[in-house]
Amino acid sequence: MGVRLRAVRRVFENDVVAIDGIDLDVAPGEFAAILGPSGCGKSTLLRLIAGLDRPQGGTIEIDSSLSAVPRGREYEGRADIAYVFQDAHLLPWRTVLHNVALPLELMHATQSHRMLAARQAIEQVGLAEAVDRYPNQLSGGQRMRVSLARAMVTDPKLLLLDEPFAALDEITRQKLDEQLRQLWLDRGMTVLFVTHSTQEAVFLAQRAAVMTRRPGKIIHDARIDLPIDRPALIRATPAFAREMHAIYQSLEKGGA
Ligand code: ADP
Repeated sequence: MGVRLRAVRRVFENDVVAIDGIDLDVAPGEFAAILGPSGCGKSTLLRLIAGLDRPQGGTIEIDSSLSAVPRGREYEGRADIAYVFQDAHLLPWRTVLHNVALPLELMHATQSHRMLAARQAIEQVGLAEAVDRYPNQLSGGQRMRVSLARAMVTDPKLLLLDEPFAALDEITRQKLDEQLRQLWLDRGMTVLFVTHSTQEAVFLAQRAAVMTRRPGKIIHDARIDLPIDRPALIRATPAFAREMHAIYQSLEKGGA
């Protein structure tokens, strides 16, 4: 599922110009990271793309030609876009299995499809042993994995993530980054990932767009020139450091 933004502008009621003149093209199946100083409009941008908010100017096109619901699906409706927030937002009275199955329940999927798809998604994020646990019996990293599994359970064609792992410790975050990258390699959805972390962006993405201070504009948009196969230790290589350097420079230029 591709995304195309032209001259997008969002001004809030208090006259805060959050973003102005944003052009962005994301190809179907691409993994793009968006970086920028706090308050530059990254969340605003993601909410606009998700359709949770509307711009005052410009156009946002989501190419749905690639996102028809595959034949054989047992439920009605479309589940093309999924959104993951920094907070896992799990329902405390539901087990992992039933939290993950929730989006399918809302689409009236059959019980057998719900359980099968939820178990598969849980397994893919490495939580098979925790399916029957409740959120308060999980670590912060495990809760985020549940949130990720719940986003993936409908097999979305576009996955939007807003600093999903920012509250986790560094080692847990790195593990989740590795798992998310594997999910993307396995499933091939388009991913837009907002992060504060240059290291996270370079490890995960094929491409990084850097925004300036508010009103946010994109001042750097470049491919991350690393192989498709990225073992954990790639983070300690000179090529990785070169990619980080380029992003740091644009963040500095953009007023971070
Ligand atoms: P980021 O995600 O990059 O930290 P945001 O998109 O959350 O930035 O916010 C961009 C700017 O818009 C900030 O100055 C923020 O205070 C302002 N803003 C965000 N949402 C609203 C809102 N609903 N009403 C007024 N101002 C807002």
